[in-house]
Amino acid sequence: MSKNYASYSYWLETSGDDLTPRPALDGTIDVDVAILGAGYSGLWTAYYLLEREPSLNVAILEKEIAGFGASGRNGGGLGNRFPVGLRRTAQLFGREGAVSLQQAINTVVDEISGVAEMEGIDMDFVRGGYMRLARSPYQVEVLQREQRTLEAFGFGEDSTVLDANEVAERVSVAGAVAGHFNHNSAKIHPAKLARGLARAVERRGATIYEQTDVIDYTTGAYPALHTARGHARAKTIVLAGESYLSRFPQLRRKVMPVYSLITLTEPLSPCDWQEIGWEAREGLSSATNMVKYLTHTSDGRILFGGRGAPYHFGSRIKDEYDRHDPTQRMLQDDVREWFPMLKDVKFTHSWGGPLGWPRDYVPTVSYDPREGLAAAYGYTGTGVGPTNLFGRILADLITRTDSEISRLPFINRDGRKWEPEPFRFLGVRFVQHGFERLDRKAEETGVAPNGKSLVERLTRH
Ligand SMILES: Cc1cc2nc3c(=O)[nH]c(=O)nc-3n(C[C@H](O)[C@H](O)[C@H](O)COP(=O)(O)OP(=O)(O)OC[C@H]3O[C@@H](n4cnc5c(N)ncnc54)[C@H](O)[C@@H]3O)c2cc1C
Repeated sequence: MSKNYASYSYWLETSGDDLTPRPALDGTIDVDVAILGAGYSGLWTAYYLLEREPSLNVAILEKEIAGFGASGRNGGGLGNRFPVGLRRTAQLFGREGAVSLQQAINTVVDEISGVAEMEGIDMDFVRGGYMRLARSPYQVEVLQREQRTLEAFGFGEDSTVLDANEVAERVSVAGAVAGHFNHNSAKIHPAKLARGLARAVERRGATIYEQTDVIDYTTGAYPALHTARGHARAKTIVLAGESYLSRFPQLRRKVMPVYSLITLTEPLSPCDWQEIGWEAREGLSSATNMVKYLTHTSDGRILFGGRGAPYHFGSRIKDEYDRHDPTQRMLQDDVREWFPMLKDVKFTHSWGGPLGWPRDYVPTVSYDPREGLAAAYGYTGTGVGPTNLFGRILADLITRTDSEISRLPFINRDGRKWEPEPFRFLGVRFVQHGFERLDRKAEETGVAPNGKSLVERLTRH
């Protein structure tokens, strides 16, 4: 019997699309490109492959349904942010490399909204910007530092630091003392994008096989995705399974699943909205180590998400981990603390899902023509925009289209590996608690973390 896919997130529930699974792969097929995963990464790769070369034979093999993973569950924040900051990318790839990467990421909001418009995907797109909020004086310095970094690299004009009054004109959040506002960001309905994109790639000729679990893959002379009921043999296979790729022994140390959880309020009354403001519907987030993120949904609710759910030994992923009562309760307390006027608000939905976390925060986009192997994964919590860029990069690499983005410096980089268990479990749990402690201490002392604590040194990026 099929799972109740609508129960995995409010977004899947309200996507307006028929979630009945497409037929599974049954037998063996020969295609040009076989893609594992029908999330944004897999779908964007298929989309741009078929745009570059419409005659390509492209198959997507999806374990559940299109948009089942993070792409159908996320916070809906679409931004021009790479998981690693500009200073760190400059250390890794030089100043020019960092600048070219940021320039490439700066295109994603326009690109995604342009394709959605062209393909008739109504994804509740609002280009309201994005604001990181300081709710404690020590966080003001964090925001100012971020702005100084952007300016030092020539990207200052997209963003600005707002004082408490300017923030209050936008949104009424208790204790907000400053904000870092970025214009080049938007909010979307994540599942409408994923489901709409799936239909768009089908219109362009791709075949999506759902409820088709890839249990192994081969490369070299015979690139193929293998399932219990058949094989997709291809010239190139693409691994676009994000956190779930950690189940493959070859990738176990390259990407780790970390759960991010979300709680959602009922639709608020016009009176509440009048008090809160938030008319531009910009994405909001905290300026803490344990990031909290907020979206003002199109039907007048507040989505409040954050990390904090525990890491599970052996990088296990299970449906039951999508909900974790203590974390959901904490998020609901946060809603009441950020918006005291909502002390009696009801919460209608809670869900979550795994993100793919690389050891050094640098996502992977790679292509090895000799092995017939391409991959895109490891976006941490900021993949909605970058998946589009990575799809374009892979399409250019696979079709041998020379472009600026296909020469970006982090392509084919072999990043640092995760520690094997049990060290990984101990380390990740230590870091999770450490970040909470750092935030609490900074709150109490009013002094920003100085970057010298063990947990900060362990996670420097
Ligand atoms: C709760 C949450 C909130 C988030 N909020 C934001 C946000 O506000 N902004 C932002 O930018 N990013 C956010 N993210 C991250 C963002 O959603 C992801 O980076 C992005 O969706 C990754 O897309 P993907 O296609 O690479 O992976 P996924 O969407 O996870 O897709 C992978 C697909 O592969 C399939 N698959 C896996 N293994 C197999 C297999 N063996 N065989 C066949 N199929 C397989 C899965 O079923 C899944 O459909 C959030 C993520 C989560 C979980």
